Amino acid sequence: MTTNDNLTAERATFVSHLECGMEGDHYAPDQLHGLSKAGKPLLVKYDLTALAAAISKEELASRPPDFWRYREFLPVRRTENVVSLGESHTPLIPFPRLQAGGGELLVKDEGRLPTGSFKARGLCMAVSMAKELGVKKVAMPTNGNAGAALAAYSSRAGIESYIFCPDDTPEINVREIAAQGAKVWRVNGLINDCGRIVGEGKQAMGWFDFSTLKEPYRIEGKKTMGLELADQLGWKTPDVIFYPTGGGTGLIGMWKAFNELREIGWLTGKLPRMVAVQATGCAPIVKAYDEGAEHAELWKNAHTVAAGIRVPVAVGDFLILRAVRESNGFATAVDDDAILQAREEAAQKEGLLLCPEGAATLAAYQKEVAAGRISPDESAVLFNCATGLKYPLPPVEHDLDCTQPVDYSTLG
Ligand SMILES: *Cc1c(COP(=O)(O)O)cnc(C)c1O
Repeated sequence: MTTNDNLTAERATFVSHLECGMEGDHYAPDQLHGLSKAGKPLLVKYDLTALAAAISKEELASRPPDFWRYREFLPVRRTENVVSLGESHTPLIPFPRLQAGGGELLVKDEGRLPTGSFKARGLCMAVSMAKELGVKKVAMPTNGNAGAALAAYSSRAGIESYIFCPDDTPEINVREIAAQGAKVWRVNGLINDCGRIVGEGKQAMGWFDFSTLKEPYRIEGKKTMGLELADQLGWKTPDVIFYPTGGGTGLIGMWKAFNELREIGWLTGKLPRMVAVQATGCAPIVKAYDEGAEHAELWKNAHTVAAGIRVPVAVGDFLILRAVRESNGFATAVDDDAILQAREEAAQKEGLLLCPEGAATLAAYQKEVAAGRISPDESAVLFNCATGLKYPLPPVEHDLDCTQPVDYSTLG
């Protein structure tokens, strides 16, 4: 099947309103919103009773395995506004050699999405909604992958994009952003410095601010990770999910998905424990979790090889911490050596080249099984959030001179 039938019809969504994630005050749907009046992220709310009456698991199963299979759970109202680059389901890859015990270890390989990372999920949805709500120009601070996805989807939608990256963002990301039609700048600071440039310039430049969680729809896009995971597992969930946490959109989105599914009765029993994984060089959420705080403080001198989780301050900090605590999970940090070692181990023992952020989840799984916080008999899903091919790899120093006889005994 090449067309998605549920996309051919114009249909209403089940969005009832938007709600401040902190204060709970309501906002009207079908209007452009940034943060709430309290300066906090807005969450999209649905009429779940009407949604449940309109769709069955059986009908859903008859649709193509992609992002838009979950149309009723998503906010886009008019099909003509869907901006798509082919968001197919991502596979769950077993890691039998690295599994700690009786609990199955699966890796959800998000590197296969458009632009090579799970940022495609959030930006596919946010750009579709921007199109629906008449936005013409967007701006965003990024450590790389979000900017690449924004560039691609906004070019496809005919929206202008302005993107600001820390100057040590991987070169491939800066170039892919430019190649996909965005205007991109390197900034001599961190992502929060880039965010300030967007915030201060948006009035004069007429930009809509696409910073993480400063518009409501990226969470809805990332929510599809939770819907898709439960669907792939036969409307069941694993015991534990390890999620590499920067801005936390995916962790918040998945937790939202599981709760919506539970509310309509598609998930029963215990929901997964959500584990927020950070790097020891930038672990504001871990610190706040350990201190029992509701909000995280800005992390100074943030550094890690895992650029995607180098986020010193997250506007959705309290939503991440809430999901972690409600789910009986926790937050944990791993250092760069452990990240690089886990990447090597996954590639050499299981044949899957993880991105450093994905490798951080494997390192965290290993660390927490050893520490007894996770039982080897608990099933776990790790998120490999981007293709490993976007990142610098260790050099290879094997050269062979084909004009000379080869001494094969040296090759073994
Ligand atoms: C953005 C990103 C993350 C963090 O995702 P959030 O949902 O924003 O916390 C992790 N890894 C990679 C590769 C990323 O691009």
